[in-house]
Amino acid sequence: MSNLDTLIQDLVIANRILAKEDVVDAYGHVSVRHPENPNRFLIARSVSPELVGADDIVELGLDGQPVGDDKRALYLERFIHAAIFEARPDVMAVVHAHAEDTLAFGVAGATKLRPVVHSGAFIGPEVPVWDIADNFGDTNLLVTDMAQGRDLAKCLGGNNVVLMRGHGFAAASRSLIEVVRMSVYLPRNARVLMRAKQLGGETKYLSAGEIEARNRGYRPYSPESWRAWEYWANRAGCGHLLTRPEG
Ligand SMILES: [Zn+2]
Repeated sequence: MSNLDTLIQDLVIANRILAKEDVVDAYGHVSVRHPENPNRFLIARSVSPELVGADDIVELGLDGQPVGDDKRALYLERFIHAAIFEARPDVMAVVHAHAEDTLAFGVAGATKLRPVVHSGAFIGPEVPVWDIADNFGDTNLLVTDMAQGRDLAKCLGGNNVVLMRGHGFAAASRSLIEVVRMSVYLPRNARVLMRAKQLGGETKYLSAGEIEARNRGYRPYSPESWRAWEYWANRAGCGHLLTRPEG
């Protein structure tokens, strides 16, 4: 298989994993930058992630429009991905989801969503909250054009995750494996933080040094990272699609 075909398979796997792990449901999406043309990215047409197959993957430009004359219906919020890829050349993969456990942290000012468990370290020390109303007033809260996408990408800045007030989150990373991992553990970290707050007393967050130590050791295709990807793919019923890169 070519690099592109392998990446499309990986994108299918990523879709299925995110659905199985309840990060996405009928809505939410994952994308990956094109391996040969950094000005394009791959994402499914408008279909639920659990149902995505290789034939559903479409190629879009950094303006969020399809390359060529693909007439299939597309995700309304594809501009989230386009704008993040445009703003962040280092980012290779993006997830947008509405995972319920993250939502309270986008609307309650009292507690910031930050890492409290080791697997949550990958979300990084800072998770900004973007409020679409700040610059766009009353909307349906969806990111439906490049202006809104760019405003979101600006709020994300150099961070890994941005919460979207009353809506969900966007996560950006150097690889598909990494962005899926981060998106799976983000709601879990949020859940633990929520419970810790209910127990009361002072909440102990991961220190900057602990977050840095976790991230320093991370490689997308290390045996430890691959173990999770393989496990999740099998749980999602698509272990047969796995291709482990050489080396
Ligand atoms: Zn959304």
